[in-house]
Amino acid sequence: MSLIIVGSLALDTIEAPAGSVADVPGGSSSYCSIAASYFTHPNLVGVVGEDFPEAVVTLFKDHQIDLAGMAIEAGKTFRWGGRYAENFDDRTTLFTHLNVFENFNPILPDAYKKAAYVLLANIHPGLQNHVLDQMDSDAFVVLDTMNLWIDTALDDLLTLMKRVDMIVINDEEAKMLTNERNYGRAAKKLQEMGPEWIIIKKGQHGALLFHQSRVFAVPGLVLDEVKDPTGAGDTFVGALIGYLAQSKDHTFDNMKLAVVFGSVLASFCVQDFSVEGISYLDESDLETRYDEFVIMSQF
Ligand code: AMP
Repeated sequence: MSLIIVGSLALDTIEAPAGSVADVPGGSSSYCSIAASYFTHPNLVGVVGEDFPEAVVTLFKDHQIDLAGMAIEAGKTFRWGGRYAENFDDRTTLFTHLNVFENFNPILPDAYKKAAYVLLANIHPGLQNHVLDQMDSDAFVVLDTMNLWIDTALDDLLTLMKRVDMIVINDEEAKMLTNERNYGRAAKKLQEMGPEWIIIKKGQHGALLFHQSRVFAVPGLVLDEVKDPTGAGDTFVGALIGYLAQSKDHTFDNMKLAVVFGSVLASFCVQDFSVEGISYLDESDLETRYDEFVIMSQF
């Protein structure tokens, strides 16, 4: 039992310049788990309704994702809808129907409590704290969050930040939390709030990894076509922690590789709708894309 992932499971409706899809697999932990599955066998904790498609359960199982922590409750699965503008940078939330997710109370199966790695994917920080309360191990904990919780659950989030090893946050959220536009100063303030490792994601422009006084920058891959950026951040952090759980190496050099593999999977994610872009990859796909990152970063 090395990695557990706790987050939302959803059916998404996406409107984008390249087309529209309805009731497709989504939620932070769908993306995280599938991405992590290329490196390890993740254990998923979440809730779905009785309407959650069997085909998605099969997809998870095909990816060797353990579903002992996935509860199926009477009612409908969480549904979320989003619309992208032409530039993909602006996203409007069309609707959020929490359904069974409204009363989500993550309960870890006993076998999960000794996991060495925990990914707290995007859910309410109060629930994320509750997950850590149940752990019996001194796990390496990675935290993902969103602007909604900075606005509405800041105290819970600040308590949680003292308990995690790494926070992965986008540039706007980093600015909201620290009042700093400068990445270096923002990272320092985030470190003072708790996590030793800081990753600031910059969307299509890549990501920055901070540890003590060291910084690593990974570029965003220049892609000819982007169809759907939904879940790119979740995919990034899922692959990152999957790679860490496989390698069990927390040196700065290995963290750089984890960040690159996060970027590799995220680049596949945006090329198709929902989890399509990350569901059917093989080792050679990952290697080819990894090489593209190496070539792009060398000088
Ligand atoms: P991202 O593109 O990283 O913002 O992630 C998009 C995913 O987050 C979608 O698949 C949604 O189903 C899911 N999502 C949207 N709102 C929430 C929320 N309030 N809590 C948890 N997950 C959410």
